[in-house]
Amino acid sequence: MKYDFAVVGGGPAGCIAAGRALEKGDVILFEEHKKQPVHCAGLISVSGFERLEIKKKHFVLNEVKGAKLFSPLGTIVEIRAKEAKAYVVDRSLFDGFLLNSAVSKGVSCESMRVLGIENSVLHTQGGEFKAEKTILATGTDYNLQKACKLDCPDEFLLGAQYEMDVECDRDLVELHFVVPDFFAWIVPLEDKARVGLCTKSNPKPFLDSFVSRLAKQNRVKGSRVQNESYGIIPLYNPKLRTQYGKINLVGDAAGHVKATTGGGVVMGGVAAEYACMEDYERLWRRNIGADLRLHLWIHRFVNRLSPQNLDRLFKITSESRNSLESGGDMDYAQKTVKALFKNPKFTLKFLLNTPSFLLDLL
Ligand SMILES: Cc1cc2nc3c(=O)[nH]c(=O)nc-3n(C[C@H](O)[C@H](O)[C@H](O)COP(=O)(O)OP(=O)(O)OC[C@H]3O[C@@H](n4cnc5c(N)ncnc54)[C@H](O)[C@@H]3O)c2cc1C
Repeated sequence: MKYDFAVVGGGPAGCIAAGRALEKGDVILFEEHKKQPVHCAGLISVSGFERLEIKKKHFVLNEVKGAKLFSPLGTIVEIRAKEAKAYVVDRSLFDGFLLNSAVSKGVSCESMRVLGIENSVLHTQGGEFKAEKTILATGTDYNLQKACKLDCPDEFLLGAQYEMDVECDRDLVELHFVVPDFFAWIVPLEDKARVGLCTKSNPKPFLDSFVSRLAKQNRVKGSRVQNESYGIIPLYNPKLRTQYGKINLVGDAAGHVKATTGGGVVMGGVAAEYACMEDYERLWRRNIGADLRLHLWIHRFVNRLSPQNLDRLFKITSESRNSLESGGDMDYAQKTVKALFKNPKFTLKFLLNTPSFLLDLL
């Protein structure tokens, strides 16, 4: 049988892409694992849920109202909205729910690995399948992409995360800018927390040292790490081509990830809505391209600031945190930056510090 669409990968991007493709024809989805592998802090914005038309269900473990950001020199910026801004999900249940939803709408699902694609034929361990168009949503496993000689992301962050009992505010995520290249996070669950970080080198020694620091502050209750996970996060590359005749790339496969937070579920999900369309590349770029670029720019800017200048930026931001509480958005960087620069106090202080910031960029 020849399908109109084949989707490779049953993560969020693949499931959302498959659901949308059903509106245009029949769809087969390949997922090599019975239970999709998970390496994720599970933080997904409430607005992202709305945007992707996903209802809050059993997979939501906690709701957070904002974040507490710690500069390298100890300045704290607390952004706390009145209402929930993000859900903390069990990614395994969340991904399972998205896959079941796609199947219940009519997507055929095969539990096997796709090994290669040639002239609309997908080669798998279980035989050959034909599809008019293929959507590659294979996450950070770039083997199939490389086998098909397609572009892959070329810059990565390496993540490590433990689940453990840590004293924290259940309403706020903590971000500690104390590691090179990125930050360490504490994402509260109901009775424990996800403690993790990313760097460009082996993240485990950094995570162990961060956990020791928390222990010295008497914040670690019990010493048992309940879950250890490791994963990679691709950095968005605006030049990466995602449409190749009959094959489209989406999600982590295409680097649809916010470089500021490493979050890829919402951006990959939004791009996935267009993955079955003729002018896919133009459509996703028009919707999220500028935001992904701005996230990348902010990531690079923050990484190049000295600890002193980063601390200054935290202090300026702290004074204008009301603007972030009312107008900030975890996913849409343009909205957040506009909210900050609409505040004359922030703009003035930022401009006054610009010469010093620029020296760090040189
Ligand atoms: C430490 C860490 C923390 C993170 N925290 C967050 C967070 O808090 N919020 C957030 O939004 N994002 C977070 N992310 C990023 C997020 O996990 C990814 O952006 C997201 O999972 C990408 O979805 P996807 O569908 O593109 O790929 P995936 O979820 O990786 O799914 C790809 C699927 O394809 C399957 N597959 C691969 N190759 C084949 C093949 N050849 N044949 C068949 N099946 C195949 C795999 O088994 C997998 O199930 C985090 C990532 C890491 C590493």
